[in-house]
Order: sequence, then C-alpha cells, then structure tokens
Amino acid sequence: MANRDASGSPTGWDSQMWGQVPPIQRDRIKRGNYLDCYCPHCKARLNDGDMAVFEVETAQGEVGIVRVAAYLNSYHRETELSLQEGSELRDARCSSCHASLILPDPKCPECGGKVGGFKVSAGGTKVDITVCVRSGCRWYGLDADSEERLLLEGSDEW
Ligand SMILES: [Zn+2]
Ligand SMILES: [Zn+2]
Repeated sequence: MANRDASGSPTGWDSQMWGQVPPIQRDRIKRGNYLDCYCPHCKARLNDGDMAVFEVETAQGEVGIVRVAAYLNSYHRETELSLQEGSELRDARCSSCHASLILPDPKCPECGGKVGGFKVSAGGTKVDITVCVRSGCRWYGLDADSEERLLLEGSDEW
C-alpha cells in the first residue's frame, strides 16, 4: 500500500555547465582587420581603397606619397620614393592638410626613432595609434583599451 516512491529525486539537472565557457582568447589582432585612418588635425579620412595615404619626407629631403595597407599587422607599402631599410623619415604628414603627424616627444621603444600618430577607427570607435617611421621597423603602439576595442569590434567576419 505504501507505494511511496522514495527516490524523490528533485530536478537534479539544474547545474548545467555554463561555467565552462572558456575565457575570451586574446589572440593577436587578426590580419585583415580593416582600419579607417584619420588625420588628427583636419579629421580627413586618409584611406584610398585598401591603402592609407601619407605624405612623407625622406632623410634625403625627398617629398612624396607613401601608401600603406590599411590593415593592422600588414606591412605592405607602396611608394615611388627610394626608402632604404632602416632609414628614418624626416617627416610624415597628412596627405590632405599636410600637417606633420610626427609626435614631438615619444620615441619608438624598438629602435629609438621618431613616431607618428594618427587616428584609426574600427567599428565606429576612433582611437589613437602611433607608428614608428623608420623603414623596416614594425613597431606600432595602441593603448591596451584601444587594442581591446579594435579586437572586439574587428573580430566579426565581414
Ligand atoms: Zn590633415
Ligand atoms: Zn622603430
């Protein structure tokens, strides 16, 4: 008669393993994250197709245009100037307003050369980026927050 089911097991399935999602992996900024580049002075957009366009002056005083692939971690560069590996640009300027992008104080932590600064945008957020202007040096600087934002906003497949 006392047909009691003593098992009484309550819903024991409430401990799903959602705690097991791995932490966001901070893989490096993927090649292919397209960056819109902007002059910090006149706010002009410096992109032309896949390239960002800058006016530069070489150590020898030649002035010309350098087009740099507008992708983080891509170092493709096109110019008619003869840029020797290791030579430092005398100046790098906005191709629109011709104001210098060289920052007065910071030095490249890799090679001690001058750095230039401009703005980049990925997914609508504009952040400062600094890049070394020595040919062959690939150093660039982004503060950690900005790099994080670019990573997150640029991480979706296009
Ligand atoms: Zn400008
Ligand atoms: Zn450098």
